[in-house]
Amino acid sequence: MAEMSLSHDADVSLVSPKRGGGTSVNASASETLRHLQAKAAARSGAVPTLPEDPGNNGAGRDSRSPEGGGGGGTAIPAVMAKGTESTSIVDEVATPATPAASGAGVPVVGGGSSEISASDDEDGSWIAWFCSLRGNEFFCEVEEDYIQDDFNLTGLNSLVPYYDYALDMVLDVEMPMEDSLTEEQQEIVESAAEMLYGLIHARYIVTNRGMHAMYEKYRSAAFGRCPRVFCQGQPVLPVGLSDLPRNYTVNVFCPRCHGLFFPKSTRQANIDGAYFGTTSPHLFLMTHPDIIPAKPSQNYIPRVYGFKINQSSVYYRNHEEGPQGETRQKRNKGIRSSQNTRSK
Ligand SMILES: [Zn+2]
Repeated sequence: MAEMSLSHDADVSLVSPKRGGGTSVNASASETLRHLQAKAAARSGAVPTLPEDPGNNGAGRDSRSPEGGGGGGTAIPAVMAKGTESTSIVDEVATPATPAASGAGVPVVGGGSSEISASDDEDGSWIAWFCSLRGNEFFCEVEEDYIQDDFNLTGLNSLVPYYDYALDMVLDVEMPMEDSLTEEQQEIVESAAEMLYGLIHARYIVTNRGMHAMYEKYRSAAFGRCPRVFCQGQPVLPVGLSDLPRNYTVNVFCPRCHGLFFPKSTRQANIDGAYFGTTSPHLFLMTHPDIIPAKPSQNYIPRVYGFKINQSSVYYRNHEEGPQGETRQKRNKGIRSSQNTRSK
């Protein structure tokens, strides 16, 4: 608990100085950069025509309409360059062949740029990718600042296997050792990264920023709605029955009836409850009392041929509460032991 409240402070005060002067964070960030650069270099090198482009491109662009240049600085001219070479009449190509060349060039550019941007997305954020997976809709995106603050991760290294690899994966730090991992190890690291992210997520969503992110989801009923009829579609909040992983899958809690339910989707229902924790929905409501919904105004009353069932009926044998919400004990004084004195 102390950890959690402290992590609030960590959010605000500890992160920023660390980002400036931190060693490990900076080191890993610069590592990432280096790897990205290396990757980019490798990628551009892999396309043989690219290095020749700029010259041809410049010449071509000068003589042609901006369309040619606008299509893309690199790939279109490559196609054009090829075209010019094969026809070997540069001037002719410059004017009449432009439509054909650019026509041929467009798909190349499209393919090339989308490839690059897609991989950039992957490189940019494992977190965004993970949260966008089907079944992971309950997760909000934890801010990288929060994860980069070691203080917020205290104790997680003893819970998560391949902790360092997992953390690098979550933070998109390219692993130099990645190639030395076997495929099997790679898979273990991937599932460890999920677990690490989940456990960080559980801590994050009890911070102010995390609560805000979850509130946005709650407001759009991203966690589903209470199935109880008289809760009238009340949005629910995810909750775990344990703060330790591998004990329970996630459930959803209805702030109106205080009922606990399985998520509607089976994919979502397979997520570990510890990734949401036992505290978050309740602390969330305590922090924002203005959004606590009113209790359902109606109670369902079972009827047989239109008649209420008598409170002393065997029908209510195993129910503490009768049709009017009276306790069973009140109805049958002395019959049942005092363990049923739950009043409502
Ligand atoms: Zn409900």
